[in-house]
Amino acid sequence: MNQKQNLAYDDVLLQPQYSDIRSRTEIDISAELGKGVNLSLPIFASPMDTISECMMAHAMSECGGAAIIHRYNTIQEQAKLLNKVETPRNVGAAIGITGDYLERAAALVEYGVGLLCVDVAHGHHIMMKEALFKLRDLFGDDLHIMAGNVATLEGINDLADWGADSVRCNIGGGSICSTRIQTGHGVPGLQTIFECAKTDRDVKIIADGGIKNSGDIIKALAAGADAVMVGSLLAGTRETPGSIIKDREGHAWKEYRGMASKEAQISWRGKYSSFEGVASRVPYRGTVGDVIRDLERGVRSGFSYSGARNLTELQSKAKFMVQTPSGLSESRTHITTRKW
Ligand code: IMP
Repeated sequence: MNQKQNLAYDDVLLQPQYSDIRSRTEIDISAELGKGVNLSLPIFASPMDTISECMMAHAMSECGGAAIIHRYNTIQEQAKLLNKVETPRNVGAAIGITGDYLERAAALVEYGVGLLCVDVAHGHHIMMKEALFKLRDLFGDDLHIMAGNVATLEGINDLADWGADSVRCNIGGGSICSTRIQTGHGVPGLQTIFECAKTDRDVKIIADGGIKNSGDIIKALAAGADAVMVGSLLAGTRETPGSIIKDREGHAWKEYRGMASKEAQISWRGKYSSFEGVASRVPYRGTVGDVIRDLERGVRSGFSYSGARNLTELQSKAKFMVQTPSGLSESRTHITTRKW
């Protein structure tokens, strides 16, 4: 049994360090993920039907990140979404590993997507292996293929050996995810990154799910991720698919749901089998641009607190420490819960 401390994002802090960085603009937060996938902001929007369609793709690429257009639609619908995006090379698109996925992949590559994302809940799987082999046979080595999700070093190594350029790491940590409850399986999110970062393969690490704020983004990058993938951090913005819901009190909301929730399964395939996610609604939060700009300021400050001018420096300088539950409550703003 693995009885070591397996850490979640909230279990740690990064120790502040001497910094000679005078302005946050001196910091380079870009990510070069290989095969033409270059982000000036290391953030992907998740391939979910309440997060990433054409408006999100456009907004994310304007901010220097990228969105992965979800696959819960027909090939024609997904291609249409891509067609509406002005900058297809800065956009990724998701495929599965069953049914028409090869035809879908061919249509997406034809449209000029810069990145194909093989999007599977349990990616360390024989069907992922077969799919990656077939995709490499069909499209050669020049196309960036992201795959996942995995939660272990063996998982990332295998996906890299099977042909993935980048791997989504974390199982069960997403805000709308119930995988660990339903199946008893998973690895705490930050520990997943620590483990996957031990890889000796030429593969990029995408920390996916469970990232709640810019502090978690910094922790993921410092632990070894090359970029992060987020759903809830962008949920509720104007650019997510779906309309604004007004409640009786006049508050505005938008829907956000796990792709393995009953609700999502019923809407894209008319029925559900096992479910590992929930459907929720989140407050309407304005534009992606505003949300991302706030996150970016936090990320740049985070680099500065570690005295790091770029990702390589952040990863070599970062000093993690474990915090106690009282440390965590001290870390959160606590004026409203204080007993006077
Ligand atoms: P969040 O950023 O914490 O909201 O997590 C988003 C991530 O959760 C996505 O990028 C997926 O990896 C994952 N995810 C999406 N839908 C589901 C689901 O229904 N069950 C489990 N994980 C999910």
